[in-house]
Amino acid sequence: MPDVRETIETIYQQVITRNPGETEFHQAVNEVLESLSVVLVKYPEYADQRIIERICEPERQIIFRVPWTDDKGDIHINRGFRVEFNSALGPYKGGLRFHPSVYLGIIKFLGFEQIFKNALTGLPIGGGKGGSDFDPKGRSDGEIMRFCQSFMTELYRHIGQYTDVPAGDIGVGGREIGYMFGQYKRITNRYESGVLTGKGMCYGGSQVRTEATGYGTVFFVDEMLKAHKDGFEGKRVLVSGSGNVAIYATEKVHELGGKVIACSDSNGVIIDEKGINLELVQQLKEVERRRIKDYTKYETDARYIEKGNIWDVPCDIALPCATQNEINTKDAKTLVKNGCIAIGEGANMPTSPGGIKVFQDAKILYGPGKAANAGGVATSALEMQQNASRDSWTFEYTEERLQQIMKNIHRDCFETAEEFGEPGNYVMGANVAGFIRVADSMMALGVV
Ligand code: NAP
Repeated sequence: MPDVRETIETIYQQVITRNPGETEFHQAVNEVLESLSVVLVKYPEYADQRIIERICEPERQIIFRVPWTDDKGDIHINRGFRVEFNSALGPYKGGLRFHPSVYLGIIKFLGFEQIFKNALTGLPIGGGKGGSDFDPKGRSDGEIMRFCQSFMTELYRHIGQYTDVPAGDIGVGGREIGYMFGQYKRITNRYESGVLTGKGMCYGGSQVRTEATGYGTVFFVDEMLKAHKDGFEGKRVLVSGSGNVAIYATEKVHELGGKVIACSDSNGVIIDEKGINLELVQQLKEVERRRIKDYTKYETDARYIEKGNIWDVPCDIALPCATQNEINTKDAKTLVKNGCIAIGEGANMPTSPGGIKVFQDAKILYGPGKAANAGGVATSALEMQQNASRDSWTFEYTEERLQQIMKNIHRDCFETAEEFGEPGNYVMGANVAGFIRVADSMMALGVV
């Protein structure tokens, strides 16, 4: 075991040296590597074949200029990224994030996580991620369209249904995917539905894709609860964010009998003890693109706390659905102290390493993002299946498939954690189960 630990520590130090300043990427790599000692003991051939070193190095990284013109005629220059991380299981697959905080380290952390998440779905998809430091907030539809068109004018040469299939993430929803698909079609003169997922229903999208990440997160938490003979019924739930994942996580919690009592955006927190009015949130955020603060104009007994901390609100279940590192050690301690019994990560890497340790030490149910939010990409893969067969499934059938996939992911994580001697540790279960699937394919494909 000490030799194996040393091997892993050496690999981690190399990752830090080779990728200076990319702290989020280091954090994501460290979290996976910490789970892998037991795997290398059981399968030393992975070390001999340098599988971990190869997985930590993206197959390809593309960085490009994205010039665009605003409504006043001023020219702006943003930076675009696509990191094609690992294609051992299938074409690169992963979303595009448009947010001012985006830089290479964020895209690489997301792309790295995506490799294992996609493997966990059991579907034939590799891992990748992309985006831009473009800030869509406050921009008109015309500005968004021109930005998306410029972004795709470079990206189109790197993607394709058999190569790399982007989707949405923070700041990229149905509107943006539509503009990008339109530009791809125009440049290539190909109606290649399978090149992007998250498309609108009128031009090749899938039922349930919009809802999938939020629904899937709740299905995963429900499985964790069921394994302890519990469920959502009557539970007080916090859902951070008020975007795509947050909205549909809230909808599913309400369907399963729980009550979401708080949500947020990057400016503040809404607390509504009678239960969040989801129709109102959807109207404000999805239709009118307003701030969550305006909720209290319509629900006057709800409270808005500017710059508030949602994790201070006592709850039974917490679903972080906004962004990375939104739960720090102190927040995790507060959640545990207030009696929280389960965490399900709709967002990617929302809990800091210190926070994860708090949850694990307290032995509360903790579903890490790469397992809990895999329903989004899984349904993207179902969209690709429908596109390939020129078919369109019903909402009910697609949701059934999603639910079954989330059950399977839960089972795989649960059983893998038991097999490797840490029952109940979903972090190790997810990392190890995902890693082994990718590693076996890499071994089979030779040194490529
Ligand atoms: P979205 O629709 O753009 O919503 C993001 C939400 O999070 C917004 O309410 C946003 O508030 C809030 N937020 C963003 N940055 C924040 C910050 N620094 N502090 C507080 N709140 C912040 O994005 P999304 O698709 O729901 O994605 C949310 C998370 O889920 C991300 O971690 C993403 O990687 C992950 N995820 C998404 C999918 C998917 O299918 N969409 C799949 C798997 C995982 P503002 O409006 O104020 O910025």
